[in-house]
Amino acid sequence: MKVLFLAAEATPLVKVGGLADVAGELPRALARHGVDVQLALPFYPGLKAELAGLRPLATVEVPRPDGVQTATVHALEVDGRRVWLIGGEPIDAAPAVYGAPEQDAAKFIFFGIGALQACRSLGWEPEVVHAHDWHAAPSLAWMRTASFGWDRTPALLTVHNLPYMGTGGEAALAGYGLRPADDPQLPDWARQLPLPLGMSHADWITTVSPSYAGEIQTPAFGCGLEAFLASRAGRLRGILNGIDPRVWNPGADAALERRYAIDSLEYRLTNKTALQRIFGWPEHGRTPLLAMITRLDVQKGVDLALDALEALQDVRWQFILLGRGDPAVEAQAEAFAAAHRDRAAFIPQFDPFLSRRIYAGADMLLVPSRYEPCGLAQLIGLRYGAVPVVRATGGLRDTVEPYASEAQGTGFLFDRADPQALADSLRGAIQVHADTRRWAGLQRRGMAADFSWAASAAEYSDLYLQASAERRARSGG
Ligand code: ADP
Repeated sequence: MKVLFLAAEATPLVKVGGLADVAGELPRALARHGVDVQLALPFYPGLKAELAGLRPLATVEVPRPDGVQTATVHALEVDGRRVWLIGGEPIDAAPAVYGAPEQDAAKFIFFGIGALQACRSLGWEPEVVHAHDWHAAPSLAWMRTASFGWDRTPALLTVHNLPYMGTGGEAALAGYGLRPADDPQLPDWARQLPLPLGMSHADWITTVSPSYAGEIQTPAFGCGLEAFLASRAGRLRGILNGIDPRVWNPGADAALERRYAIDSLEYRLTNKTALQRIFGWPEHGRTPLLAMITRLDVQKGVDLALDALEALQDVRWQFILLGRGDPAVEAQAEAFAAAHRDRAAFIPQFDPFLSRRIYAGADMLLVPSRYEPCGLAQLIGLRYGAVPVVRATGGLRDTVEPYASEAQGTGFLFDRADPQALADSLRGAIQVHADTRRWAGLQRRGMAADFSWAASAAEYSDLYLQASAERRARSGG
């Protein structure tokens, strides 16, 4: 089974967020199911500089109503997997991975069409085209146009974060001759946006957890597309993301002060003490050390966490926040840390090394998201024995089992997106933390849970087979 993957980022070449982990790691897991993934990425100027000397494999035409653009195709092997890098003027003109909406739309549409043209020109015809997020969605509309004509090839679209629809991309779609979606369930404003357009052409829409797949069919999470998504309920599936247990392994993580495993949890304390020392706090093993590692976006509920901690003045805790993003959230975090220097720290950086040390030393990982399609932070927290305290939404609900007794549960969940609900949940968690035996049980159950890519890959591969069979049946052979 040959599958073309189209994504704006993928590890280890380009990483901005969780999409990179999915596009980088899922193909390896799919290979074990006999799925041969050809990944295509935009050839960003930054990558070009890193890969100077790489020779182009081909050049292909990207037709537009007003003329023809040229795309270059470079190929390389990364960890034994083939990657195509699609380059050209619209990508050079918007060098950051994500920047101004209009320019981004033009570059990503160009990229997607260029990748499809590369398949044709190089004689590599996929049995499924799997596009990720709004960036790659327009390519699904393109492959159905009369001039390209891949009517028998199933199209899958995975939505990693619904609110990002490619707003501002209307003119760019028209510039490539892509007509607005004609699905009557789509509101007018959505018909000529990249993500809804791609969804209207997809045989299957997937998102990254079963709960989020249900939530986006409701007004609270559907961003105005809930009626359309509900009308596609039979063709919408939630498939959980995974993490690579070799990449995230406290037993072999070189960033840690001390490595540990499920049967040597006591060594974790060294990592906690090391963090307390960095911030000049009392090195108390019994004081609960809470952490958040996140983009600072309203989605992630950092404000809920800070307000909840204010409401827990009477309780002993220490708190580390690692993340950067929205200036308003950064300012709030700065003010909070300044007011609680003796027990709160804010590090406004993207720092993978420090993040590993925090996962390994914190007692609890807070993930109070307002919505969460899947979430990787809580999966890493589970794997490292940092017990997740999460809002019961999306993928958080699907991956964290509520603490129920000495023998059951991997974390703590709360329902309402308000500080008091989180504060109550934290109070309960901190009480359990005081009981070392119960706490170690929680940690061990989380560390033993399997969130590798194996289960996801099996589901995607089944879906590819099903989608192919459906298309064959429809086209009479
Ligand atoms: P999202 O993709 O919405 O940002 P996820 O939880 O799915 O959220 O993935 C976030 C990933 O980025 C996790 O691997 C997390 O450890 C990492 N991350 C987030 N913020 C930082 C940071 N400031 N420093 C290092 N890693 C971070």
